Parts: sequence; structure tokens; C-alpha cells
Amino acid sequence: MSLNICLLPGDGIGPEIMAQAVKIMDVTAKAFGFTVATSEALLGGAAIDAAGTPLPEATVAACTAADAVLLGAVGGPKWDNIEKSIRPERGLLGIRKAMGLFANLRPATLFDELRHACLLRADIAAQGLDVLIVRELTGGIYFGEPKGEETKDGERRAFNTMVYAESEIERIARVAFEAARKRRGKLCSVDKANVLDVSQLWREVVIRTAKDYPDVELSHMYVDNAAMQLVRAPHQFDVMVTGNLFGDILSDEAAVITGSIGMLPSASLGSSGPGLYEPIHGSAPDIAGQDKANPLATILSVAMMLRHSLDMAAPAEAIEAAARAVLKEGWRTGDIMQEGAKLVGCEKMGSLVAERIAK
Ligand code: NAD
Repeated sequence: MSLNICLLPGDGIGPEIMAQAVKIMDVTAKAFGFTVATSEALLGGAAIDAAGTPLPEATVAACTAADAVLLGAVGGPKWDNIEKSIRPERGLLGIRKAMGLFANLRPATLFDELRHACLLRADIAAQGLDVLIVRELTGGIYFGEPKGEETKDGERRAFNTMVYAESEIERIARVAFEAARKRRGKLCSVDKANVLDVSQLWREVVIRTAKDYPDVELSHMYVDNAAMQLVRAPHQFDVMVTGNLFGDILSDEAAVITGSIGMLPSASLGSSGPGLYEPIHGSAPDIAGQDKANPLATILSVAMMLRHSLDMAAPAEAIEAAARAVLKEGWRTGDIMQEGAKLVGCEKMGSLVAERIAK
């Protein structure tokens, strides 16, 4: 079996963490008897510098032709003040849209070895945290029309529109119900149905869709309460499904609670075609080029890629087990460092995981 993976290293620490992910793919392929062919394309600031646009057409073509896409991170201070329409983040939103990636799967898992880093009270952390946030990615307020700025009665106003069609809600709900089926069978739909019309429709459609998943226990929660419950009692959640804006915020909240955004992978999936896999953190310009970045989120994204896009559960588990073993042995990058642990850089962390996969 030969896999064709398109790499989008991006900016900041992107190239460093991507190099470790490639190392992991190569060693995993060797251990499990498949081959990986990689191609590289430009996205974000790197693409702006080389081609004047954050998402060149060649990148879209390379991504859609691949079996799966692995992304580092985009953005940085160098491009903070350029014209809005070509900012690096536009590349990110654009590639998600171009690939039809409407579902973002973000697991927030608290590793036993990193419980000390959890930002919650010890008694709450002890109950565990293993939640999968399913966020709608191509609709809602980030894409809704009309949007823009106008001058009215002598002052500037700006506006965006939160809009969801029934079909958009139903397809993300189905992804979430299916995910819940593969986990602990619980789904919490998060909305703001007490205030927003769009949320009332969201809730109606989720309830209607639930009829096809009688084995999944469905609950509903307002987004403000969900934000509180995630810090009060996160162990109550299995899978959460929500729209683009709420999901953006809640998934970052769930992530930071675990203590390191350098540990968390994500998957973005469409109805068909390749999925896109990336760490949830940004380009970390403050540590770029210093061999300080934690590559584990990107390495664990490789595991998600093998599992979700390529149906290769065993190699995915091997990568996850190797990452856990390295943590158990006390190896840490700076972001997850603790007293008595062994501090390593990005490159060494990648090699440690690779060695354990090869064993
Ligand atoms: P960030 O995630 O890049 O960094 C936040 C903090 O976490 C920094 O102190 C950073 O050093 C640390 N950090 C992040 N990833 C780490 C890792 N793997 N190992 C160790 N430490 C890590 O967020 P930010 O500082 O708000 O944004 C920086 C740039 O990244 C901005 O241009 C932003 O737009 C962009 N960004 C991109 C993405 C993406 O590509 N998906 C996501 C978020 C932010």
C-alpha cells in the first residue's frame, strides 16, 4: 500500500514540527509495511512571500489530489499588518472551504503523565478529561453573508451574519452521532437557542437527526453553560457538537484546560475526499527556529490521519502508544516541563517517539 500525503508546513514552528511528523510517518510505514510518498505545498505567510497569496491554486490542486493532508501552522507577526484579504488565516479558511471540510474533530485528552499540568483543581482533574469537540467548520458566522462595514448616521458599523441551513446542521450532527457511537455513546449539542433563531433551528435539526441514532444519549446545553461546565465538571462530556464560532472558543477552552496545546491534534473532514490533519496550536513565533516546539500534537495528528482517512488503526495506535511511553519515561519539551523530568527539544522528542515505534 502506498500513501500520497500532501504536507503544508506553513510558518513559524510549522516546518520544525512537520519534519518530526515526516520522521514518524517514515518509521511507521517501515514498521507496518506500507510506503508514504509526500509532496509539499505553500500555505499562509510562506505562500504570501513566495506567490503573493495565502492559498495558491497549486496548493489546492496538490491537497485535493492527495490521500490526506498534514498541516503545520500558519501566521506570524511578519504578516500581521498586511491587507485583510490576503492574511495568512485566509489561506487556512480557504483550504478548508476548497476541500469541503465541514467537520472539525478536536479531542481534548488529559494524559495521566501530564495531570500536573491540568489547569483544573486536582480533584476535578483526577476525574479525567476525554472529550471530543465536533465543530462545524465551513458555515455559521465566519462565512455568513451579508458581512462587512458601512457608514451609517456618520459612524462606521461592522456586521457579520450567523446562518445555518438544515442540511449543514444535519451533516455535522451525523458526524458527531457517528463519533459518539465509537466512543462512550453520549452527545451534547451546544447552542444558544434561548436567544438565537439560528440556534433554535440547530436544536430542532439535531433532535430530528437523533431519531437515526437511538443508541446515542443526546443532551443540549447553552454555550455559556457549556463554557462553565467544561471547567466545573469536564468528565461529564463525551462528544460535544456545535457551530463554527462556539466550537472555535469551546475547543480552545477544552484544550487549554489539559495544560498544553502542544499535545493536541485535530482532524477536518468532508463528505468524501482527503481529510486535513493539524495540531491545534498556532505557529508559535516566539519559539520558532529554536528547536523548542513540542512536536507531539503534529505527531498525534499523523495518528488521527491514519485512523480516520486511511483506515489504519494499528499504526495509529502504535504512534499514540509510543508518544505515551515517551511521556511515561519522563521526556518533556519546555511547554510541558515539570520538576524531575528530562527536557528535550523538538528534534529529540520526535526521535524518541520514532525509536519506540521502530522497536
Ligand atoms: P500559538 O498557539 O502559536 O502560541 C500560543 C503559545 O503557546 C505561545 O507561547 C507558544 O510558544 C506556545 N505554543 C504553541 N504551540 C506550541 C508547541 N507546539 N510547543 C510549545 N509551545 C507551543 O498562538 P498565538 O501566539 O496566539 O498565535 C501565533 C500565530 O499563529 C498567529 O499569527 C496566529 O494567527 C497563528 N495561529 C495559527 C493557527 C493555525 O495555523 N491553525 C492557529 C492559531 C493561531
